[in-house]
Amino acid sequence: MRPTAPRAWLRMAALCLAALGLAGCGPGAQESATQHRFMAMGTLVDVTVYGVPAEDAEAAAREVEQLFHALHRAWQPQGDGALGRFNAALASDPAAAPPDPDLGALIAEANRLAQATGGLFDPTLGALVQLWGFGSAERLPAAPPPPEAVAAWLQQRPLQFDLGGFAKGVAVDRAIALLRARGIEHAIVNAGGDLRAIGRKGDRPWRIGIRAPRDPAGVLAALETAGDEAVFTSGDYERWFEYDGRRYHHILDPRSGYPTTGLVSVTVLHSNAGLADAAATALMVAGPEAWPTVAAALGIEAVMVVDADGGIQLTQAMQPRIWFTDEAYGAQARVRSLP
Ligand code: AMP
Ligand code: MG
Repeated sequence: MRPTAPRAWLRMAALCLAALGLAGCGPGAQESATQHRFMAMGTLVDVTVYGVPAEDAEAAAREVEQLFHALHRAWQPQGDGALGRFNAALASDPAAAPPDPDLGALIAEANRLAQATGGLFDPTLGALVQLWGFGSAERLPAAPPPPEAVAAWLQQRPLQFDLGGFAKGVAVDRAIALLRARGIEHAIVNAGGDLRAIGRKGDRPWRIGIRAPRDPAGVLAALETAGDEAVFTSGDYERWFEYDGRRYHHILDPRSGYPTTGLVSVTVLHSNAGLADAAATALMVAGPEAWPTVAAALGIEAVMVVDADGGIQLTQAMQPRIWFTDEAYGAQARVRSLP
């Protein structure tokens, strides 16, 4: 464990995270990085580009914005985009085929992830997400659904796709590919704190903050990305409501039909943002004991989780990569080996 962090930039990290989107902050950060910020997929997206003329960076970042909007339309589970139409077709014909090859390939990948995780990552729980009311970007549900309705879903499991567990990651991967195709080698695409970074920020690596689960302005840990890496976090604090003194959140356990319990957040580091995104969601479902098995099945090595009591567990591959903002976190962290 590296218990002591470079204090100055951790303080900076906390400030930047408070302003949302830590990526790209730090001493000297303002010099020649270009930043473009927009709302898409229900979240704030920041595209930070370094090392090319500002007008080229801005043009490429605007293309990334268009890309995010197009993917959001295509991958919304309801409505007249490709996935919405496919779900409507499935409702009357469970053998319906995806409307286009791009969506077909994405669904094939989602099914592969479902298989690798023994169904804990379940892209076919669209009807359950709707039943809970987590399908709407604007409104949160007021109450959980009646238990009989959840039981009926468990029995029938109607085939409705919801790619919300990894669509943001895939979009980030495509955005990075677009930037590279425009000759950009140093950039971060940060979608609400989940990001992929390529290259460096001048003479030093990109620095990233990981939010403390129960403290919206707090930073739990920080890390430096090495070359080309994505950092994705799933947490029970992202979309949730309280009812009768209990907390209900948007990551659902397909075995019970109810929100997952045991872990409050999972952070995954991997070169592929789509895989990191899916893995973070799947490990939330796997819970405090089983997560290393599922990580190994997905080929993920660098993971940190926070459990419901605030306990931190991390893999051997993650340990040398992060600095905790508080030495007490590092002191209590438990290292888990992967099977
Ligand atoms: P994330 O924030 O990446 O963990 O994704 C959460 C979103 O994924 C939810 O809002 C749902 O749309 C969807 N989702 C919820 N539970 C699961 C699950 N067990 N497997 C796959 N996707 C899920
Ligand atoms: Mg995810």
